[in-house]
Amino acid sequence: MWTCPKCGRNFRNCNQSHYCGKAPETIAEYIREQPEAVQPILRQLQETIHAAIPEAKEKISWSMPTFWKGHNLIQFAASQKHIGLYPGPEAVAFLPIACRRIPPVKAPFVCR
Ligand SMILES: [Zn+2]
Repeated sequence: MWTCPKCGRNFRNCNQSHYCGKAPETIAEYIREQPEAVQPILRQLQETIHAAIPEAKEKISWSMPTFWKGHNLIQFAASQKHIGLYPGPEAVAFLPIACRRIPPVKAPFVCR
């Protein structure tokens, strides 16, 4: 058990990556709170997903930027050393063929 000294939350893993502090309420707010170097990448990711599914509602779910249409379609999150992309099964159909070969479908795709 590890307790974050900043927010006091408890985690199973020591130095667990987590959202420390007040959770953002919008994707724009989430991106603004990330390191400056990754903000342009996250904005591009948001714009690309929005262009692909403009009817999806943008929200924060599980502390991650989420595109929702009846359920979570696709999410992304910035970590210390990577940006994770978490597509639902419907979103996988729109990924490049090389990405679709990565099993299992529910595992996150990691963009480094
Ligand atoms: Zn914390």
